[in-house]
Parts: sequence; C-alpha cells; structure tokens
Amino acid sequence: MPDDPIASVEPITAAAEIVDRSERIVVLTGAGISTDSGLPDFRGPNGLWTKNPEAEKASDIRYYVSDPEVRRTNWKLRAEGRLWANVAPNDGHRALLPLQTRGVLDTLVTQNVDELHQRAGIDPDTVVEIHGTTRKAGCLSCDYRTDMDTVLDRVRSGEPDPACPQCGGLLKSATISFGQALVAEDLQRAQDAADRCDCLLAIGTSLTVNPIATIVPRARRHGAALVIVNGEPTPFDSIADVVVRGSISHVLPEIIGSSAR
Ligand SMILES: [Zn+2]
Repeated sequence: MPDDPIASVEPITAAAEIVDRSERIVVLTGAGISTDSGLPDFRGPNGLWTKNPEAEKASDIRYYVSDPEVRRTNWKLRAEGRLWANVAPNDGHRALLPLQTRGVLDTLVTQNVDELHQRAGIDPDTVVEIHGTTRKAGCLSCDYRTDMDTVLDRVRSGEPDPACPQCGGLLKSATISFGQALVAEDLQRAQDAADRCDCLLAIGTSLTVNPIATIVPRARRHGAALVIVNGEPTPFDSIADVVVRGSISHVLPEIIGSSAR
C-alpha cells in the first residue's frame, strides 16, 4: 500500500473514487453490516451462543440431527423470538442501494442469514446467501422448503419438533450449519462474480470464514480493485487498494453516497 498513490489520500475519499469509477461491483458482506440493526453477535458477552449454549449446539448439524432436545429448544427459542429478533435494515444496508440504481451491482454475496439486504430493497436475484437464511426452513431429507413463520406457527400450535409434511423428515432453518456443505451453485455464483468484477467491496466481514473468503484474493488475481470496510483488521488488508475502518453504517453512506455525485 505505501507505494500506491491512492493510499496517501483519505481512505473514505479513496474508496469512493474506486467505487465511482467501477462498472461491475461485487459486494461481500458479513455480520458487521448487521450489528447496527441490533443483531447480537455469537460469542461476545451478550452473544447468542453465550446466553443460549443450546443454540450453539443446534448450529452443529450432528447435534441437531441426533438430539431431539436440541431441536425442541431451538424451535422454542425461535418461536419466542429469542434467537433472531425482528430487526430492520440500517443505514449500512441502505447505503448499497445507489449501486443497484446505477446498474453497477453485479452480485451481493452475504454471509448473513437475516435477509436484511433484501428488506432494504436489493433485488433478491442479485443476492447470494452463501450461508443460507433463517427466514426460511427446509427438510433435511427432501426438497420441502417453506417460510420460517409457517413452521413457527406449528411450533406455537403445540408441535415442539415439527416434521416435514411431505416425507416426515427433520425440518431445520435454511441456514448452513457447521458440518454442512455450502450449496455448490451458490459458491459457484460467488466465484464467477469474483472472476468478472472490476471491484470487490468487502464490508463488515473478518474474511476468515472459508471457502467464501477466498473470492477476495480470487477477484484481486483477476484484476479487480479491492476495498475493505471493516472494524477490525482482515487477512487481506495487505492486498487491498483501500482499507476503511469505522462504523459501517456511518462510513458506507459516505463511500457510496459520495460516488453518486
Ligand atoms: Zn421432507
């Protein structure tokens, strides 16, 4: 970075200049863009898993499949709104909308499972939910898939561990649990987008979760500019054109808002 003249100007301005001149942008987002919506993290003092160790067990497919008690606790917490409270998009999510309006948002790859990008107005067809979504549920044995609320209504009506209406199999939120493989076509979409983009914007992600983090060096190898916006250092800061630190919901509107001028 020291040899790059762009590094000598203020990072937000430098990032805005890159975004402004880019025509095919891939955005990769992580938990950091949703924390300002009040979504708790997992392992912090008030983390989901710190307060509900059973919920962490439920995120491991082995426990979930083998232990009915883990499933019952998980459905109960969800039905009571204690796992993912009803949260709304924040300024960080909304800050991405001008990219869509300008027609330069190629693909938005998110590690989040909260659907807040879509709720903020991003076209669902543009979004790759690489770790799935908590807003839907599916059967582990067949192709049954439904809205989470449909399953939670059954839980609230007295079914503690509702079974698949098609095959009797186990239902689970449509998220990728530990021990579960990513959806191959989702990963392929993300990789293809990384190969063809001229700018990759990584926002609110530690870039330590593989394999999705590998689209960052992949995009770089294919010649894309790399902008990282995150509160903490990432393993790819050294190959980024610009690294911006700070609150996502504050700095992102400055980076993208100013690019729309
Ligand atoms: Zn089924």
